[in-house]
Amino acid sequence: MVNINTYNYLLSDLKKLKGIGIKTSNLLKKKKINTIFDLLWKLPRSYKDLSISTKIKDLKIGETQTITLYPFKYNFPRVRNLPNKINCKDETGELDCVFFNSHEGYIKKILPLNKEITISGKITQFKNKYQITNPKYVSENASLIKNKHNIYSLTEGISEKVYNNIINQILKNLPKLDEWHNQNILKKFNYTSWNDAIVKLHLPENVGKYKSDFYKRLAYDEILSSFLVHSEIRRKIKKVKKQKKNFEIKSQNKFLSKLNFNLTNDQKITLNEINKDLKSNHKMFRLLQGDVGSGKTIVSLTAAFNVIKSGFQVAVMAPTEILARQHYILAKKIFDDNIIVELLSSKSEYKEKKEITKKLKENKIDIIFGTHAIFQKKIEFKKLGLIIIDEQHKFGVNQRKKLSDKGGDNCDVLLMSATPIPRTLTMTIYGDMDLSIIKEKPKYRLEVKTYSKLESKIDDVINFIKKEIKNGNQIFWVCPLINESKKLDHSSAVKKYEYLKRIFPKQVALLHGKTEMDEKELILNNFLNNKFKILVSTTIIEVGIDFPNANVIVIENANKFGLSQLHQLRGRVGRGNKQSTCILMFKSSLTENAKKRLNILKNSTDGFEISEKDMKIRGYGDILGFKQSGIKNFKLADPVHNSDLFELAEKEIKKMEDQYEDISKYKILMKLYDQADVINDII
Ligand code: ADP
Ligand code: MG
Repeated sequence: MVNINTYNYLLSDLKKLKGIGIKTSNLLKKKKINTIFDLLWKLPRSYKDLSISTKIKDLKIGETQTITLYPFKYNFPRVRNLPNKINCKDETGELDCVFFNSHEGYIKKILPLNKEITISGKITQFKNKYQITNPKYVSENASLIKNKHNIYSLTEGISEKVYNNIINQILKNLPKLDEWHNQNILKKFNYTSWNDAIVKLHLPENVGKYKSDFYKRLAYDEILSSFLVHSEIRRKIKKVKKQKKNFEIKSQNKFLSKLNFNLTNDQKITLNEINKDLKSNHKMFRLLQGDVGSGKTIVSLTAAFNVIKSGFQVAVMAPTEILARQHYILAKKIFDDNIIVELLSSKSEYKEKKEITKKLKENKIDIIFGTHAIFQKKIEFKKLGLIIIDEQHKFGVNQRKKLSDKGGDNCDVLLMSATPIPRTLTMTIYGDMDLSIIKEKPKYRLEVKTYSKLESKIDDVINFIKKEIKNGNQIFWVCPLINESKKLDHSSAVKKYEYLKRIFPKQVALLHGKTEMDEKELILNNFLNNKFKILVSTTIIEVGIDFPNANVIVIENANKFGLSQLHQLRGRVGRGNKQSTCILMFKSSLTENAKKRLNILKNSTDGFEISEKDMKIRGYGDILGFKQSGIKNFKLADPVHNSDLFELAEKEIKKMEDQYEDISKYKILMKLYDQADVINDII
């Protein structure tokens, strides 16, 4: 039986610890350390070994050394600015302990005369005599000093001594938790228990032993706990019984046959997976993941078609108005006339909006497109059967769960993301959803040609662009910053806009993060309609929009971007049938490492492969800014170095799900590691 009190100790407030008052506890809270458990991950940075003691005659000046000696005389000069000095000796010589700003009472307490004292500090010399000034380590109990002492990255206002004290205290009181792993898993970590692992983690000599059993076990605990929470959400959603969607595959295929292309194999497979969910009596909660241009839109619209044919309504949410409109226009074109398609735009007249709201409630609209506005409270559906969310990779687990609740029991949910991320991150970020992946790109599509160019050769680029424009093509020109910054030597979009405008009068427009929403839409629409030729922008170019006529993208200061981001930017072109080009510009010649990275990009158009390699080079935090987007920050586990543990956890979870394993033995693990909002709901 699990003793609840024991694990509660770990989740209790810091003030429960001796030596932590309000002040220290507030300092720690600022560092997001709120519970005793949080303190377990405050690890020593390194350690000082004070275990070997030296006789006075053998001391070395400038080194930190440990000596056992006897204080024999106090010198307390009653003159300001003169230090207190205590003469000490051993059988080989003498040494003075020197104190600035310390009270006599304190000194007498720690250095009583003629008692054996062990002391450690940096040895200096003054007038031919050894000295230790303001020693940090002094005790009558030699074993307290002759030891290894942890060194921490200090939080301002908290000393090493306090950390050592409180962490030792926690380790001493560590509750014996019942084992949650099975023997097979434990064997992989040499049967190291959680308690042992925690104690070992804090041993000074174990600093940085990432490959040892104790470290891996704890990393695995963390990963498994996060996957378990996801799995529980998934299980809970699956338990929701819904009305099956009833539709004819014949009618779907007739719809598809009218398109001017055939679906790729991956499109067919993912569509089948979605259809199976729709036809089942379990609620669907699925992520459709695929590289830019892999053709997710048509898959989702076909699913929407099927849902509509089963008598339900569909809501499609896009991150921007212009993308919502593009999807809307496509739907109008490909759906038969008896499907009623609407767009809810912020620009619609009040009257029109009211009309749409009314019709939605009366089931007189089959499919509605819009931004997040379509999920306002006042918008009600009569019979919502499917929510499609496009390009929302920044939705966190909590938001997704809310969304799935919002549509009601009969409503399936399909999310789409064009952000290919490494497998380990997919499991970490989207583990609560079922996954469909499109890897294959539509056939006959020409690969984007990728070149690198020194900035000094900009004239070549200009000449190339002139030719492309002559052939009726359009160009994206991407710069890292809006305005010239003194600190950062990045090209500014504004400056480049001015420069290009002189060469291509009336053919250039500028777009950046500070452009007003309305103006932005207008510019993008004009670009879409080929009203100008070159769009200069920061990296904000909309995701998802199809600009079939743009086939060149120039990216300045390309070495400032991660490979995944460059790949995403490159994906803005190459969607149509024309040959497309991506030109990466550099300020100076490339280092060997930069060349290596660039070659990955030049030689691959597979976003998944690129992100995998990018993560290995730059670490997972840099992959498209995922660290900022609120994904779980692991304490020990690392998606690059512990990829094997992520895979192991995924397999375990799959096994548990397949065998309907009772997960109650993992409850404490989950409670400890995952204090997300969702958890209280589910366990
Ligand atoms: P994404 O997956 O990035 O959302 P889209 O769905 O916007 O990609 O598709 C990109 C382009 O590819 C669109 O112009 C679309 O019409 C086209 N497309 C989609 N599927 C196919 C296919 N099987 N064969 C040829 N072109 C396709
Ligand atoms: Mg898309």
